Amino acid sequence: MTESPLDWYEQGLRHLWLPYCQMKTATQPLAVAATEGSRLHLADGRCLIDGIASWWTAVHGYNHPHIRAAVERQLGRMPHVMFGGLVHEPAARLATRLAALSPTGGGRVFFAESGSVSVEVAIKMALQYWINRGERRKKLVHFRHGYHGDTLGTMAVCDPEEGMHSHFKGMLASHLLADIPDSAASEQALRDLLDRHRRDIAALIIEPLVQGAGGMRFHAPESLAFIAQAAKARGLLLIADEIFTGFGRTGALFASDIAGVRPDIITLSKALTGGAAPLSAAIAAPHVYDAFHDEDPMKALMHGPTYMAHALGCAAANASLDLFEREPRLDQAKRIADQLRTELTPCARLEAVRDVRVMGAIGVVELRAPPDIGKLRAAFIDQGVFIRPLGNVVYLTPALTIDADDLARLTRAIHDVLTAA
Ligand SMILES: *Cc1c(COP(=O)(O)O)cnc(C)c1O
Repeated sequence: MTESPLDWYEQGLRHLWLPYCQMKTATQPLAVAATEGSRLHLADGRCLIDGIASWWTAVHGYNHPHIRAAVERQLGRMPHVMFGGLVHEPAARLATRLAALSPTGGGRVFFAESGSVSVEVAIKMALQYWINRGERRKKLVHFRHGYHGDTLGTMAVCDPEEGMHSHFKGMLASHLLADIPDSAASEQALRDLLDRHRRDIAALIIEPLVQGAGGMRFHAPESLAFIAQAAKARGLLLIADEIFTGFGRTGALFASDIAGVRPDIITLSKALTGGAAPLSAAIAAPHVYDAFHDEDPMKALMHGPTYMAHALGCAAANASLDLFEREPRLDQAKRIADQLRTELTPCARLEAVRDVRVMGAIGVVELRAPPDIGKLRAAFIDQGVFIRPLGNVVYLTPALTIDADDLARLTRAIHDVLTAA
């Protein structure tokens, strides 16, 4: 018996549990057969221009030949090998390159396989940094509208109201929530919070310049610099979660660099492999690592995901860094910013729109009220584009390689769909 082409879809959907949706009422997901550049080729023959780049990962476009060749070469040699007692060239080369680029100013690179796990590792590093120095500091300072992952440890430093994390109130570690300072009063509030809990705080954790999943909210480099300075003045660690902002998204390689901030620990994932494979990293500045480097086995970092430093992922990430060196990605991000500004600004005149904002290759149209998401998504698909709003935020985070015509089709779709809605 032969199966019709989409039997796998009908059958599989009876067994799959999909992310971030009420399975009973969610609209059916689109079946993707292949990807190419900024295009999604659907199983039914339609082709959509991708405005999201697969949760912000595919910065070089899909199927970039240089990344594909690197992964294929690695696959032929060795798909993976455990990292306990063994190392391999792709990971060693990648660690060397990331340490040289990292806003921490060098340090040690700990690889994991997902963003959330790298944040867990960063938090563990920060807590144990103090334990190894003879102090037990249990609190982290995190910021309203922040998002750092979906695992239990990272949920405890997400915005407590968003993402339905309120369900789990009382089951998560309790930390200290602050507003990102943008005025003399809010600066003083942060200072007071840090002073009040000074001996209990291990680290501050923030998404530098852009809070992504919490609504694509921007803050000024001065706010980030103030936070970094306030932490430093009190000897507290700063964790910069660059999982979304890293690798060109904000117009610089890292958002921390724009603000001239030197975090003690950073986390990377999303665009690290150019979207080709799961991989993440927590990078500790030299002085953080020094607190672990000791004869005492109790001072070791006891962590090691089974698939850490996956060789195919490391090969993809090295190839992605080659592309940042060889191709004008940051210039492309700036060109995208200019075009987004020109083409999205007219949306500000629409009654439903509260705000239009752009930073690097991130274009945001914020609505006054949450739209009918199902209807909006369908309207975008009718326009031949894939755009996935976050609540009342319609946004574009395209591949940095997207051409001007495709980007214009994305911005026009947003304008036309919001005008009709
Ligand atoms: C996506 C994201 C994470 C979580 O990464 P996963 O790979 O989904 O676990 C953490 N922090 C930020 C800033 C992110 O954007």
